[in-house]
Amino acid sequence: MSESSVSEAQVREVLRDVNDPEIGRPLADLDMLREVKIGPDNAVAVTVELATPAYPRRERIAHSIGAMLAAKLPQAGRVDVSFTARVKGKQSGGAIGLTVQNIIAVGSGKGGVGKSTVAASLAVGLQLAGARVGLMDADIYGPSIPHLFGVNQRPEIVEQHAPDGQTIRRIKPIDAAGLKLMSIGFMIGFDEPVIVRGPILHRTIQQFLQETAWGELDYLIIDLPPGTGDISLTLSQLVGLAGAVVVCTPQQLALLDAVKAINMFRKVKIPVLGVVENMSGEIFGRGGAKQKAAEMSVPFLGEIPIDAQIRVNGDAGHVRNSFAEGSPSRPYLMNVCEQTAIEIARTLLETPSMPTLEIL
Ligand code: ADP
Repeated sequence: MSESSVSEAQVREVLRDVNDPEIGRPLADLDMLREVKIGPDNAVAVTVELATPAYPRRERIAHSIGAMLAAKLPQAGRVDVSFTARVKGKQSGGAIGLTVQNIIAVGSGKGGVGKSTVAASLAVGLQLAGARVGLMDADIYGPSIPHLFGVNQRPEIVEQHAPDGQTIRRIKPIDAAGLKLMSIGFMIGFDEPVIVRGPILHRTIQQFLQETAWGELDYLIIDLPPGTGDISLTLSQLVGLAGAVVVCTPQQLALLDAVKAINMFRKVKIPVLGVVENMSGEIFGRGGAKQKAAEMSVPFLGEIPIDAQIRVNGDAGHVRNSFAEGSPSRPYLMNVCEQTAIEIARTLLETPSMPTLEIL
């Protein structure tokens, strides 16, 4: 037992250089070291603030902190590490009145690759991790989010009071077990053929984003229509997106479509967060998307194996069931959510503040 006592400043100094294993930067640089308390017998209690509640294997940080203190400050007693999370973002929906930290677009080069399933899973997974999440279905050609969540009620219109005393009408998103859900299908009808041309499309999306009472969110996931760049362009003019997630299947032809989608996002100045390989396995092969992502210098956000249960859950309106304990898809889906959240945090560090509106 050592006689000398440990000070908070000493602990902070020693822990400065502990690395965040995901972001690859020291805790001090990331301002992650929050409370440091010294208790009886030099017990050290440290609170670390993570960039996302969807932080994978946070025990690695606790382990590094313990090891660093043991090596550099041997007189320290028992070490307790606890975690909080605060999602930061570009908040660039502010120009149209949104209080959303990060807006994530989910796109694909073509239909049927599981884009909506991945968008819905991102929303569910981030919410399960503890984030405040909204999901907006902007796939005007085939809105499927309501179906995936088994929701068919019409959203309510609510009246809110603006700071200047004016009454404004807002669409209340559907609450799906805490997840805020809105679909373009609610506004344009699900069964009508969609013939929406440029300017109207732009107006519809703007209205849809702006007039929904999203409240405060950490992440707003937007399920885009496949292929087309129209809505992406509109979004990039209205808000500064955290970035786009591109979903593709592993076979060569599908990968060509993914390349087109990546190029499309680049053209409309939406950063590509990465690529998800969906339906990997016996039928379509495996690993193609990872390789393509590397070729295009885009992060790979994980694979989701083909699993009949994912289809069954989606068809039944129970996407959440794919996240149930014991579901074989759960670790893959969670991994995609975590990698996406980490990539957002990393991108934000590289481009901390963006102008709110580029102008139309
Ligand atoms: P998109 O939005 O790209 O058109 P969907 O998300 O609607 O695609 O998915 C198309 C079909 O494939 C749906 O029936 C869905 O349940 C199914 N599906 C998606 N991902 C998987 C998967 N990993 N394994 C099995 N079926 C899947």
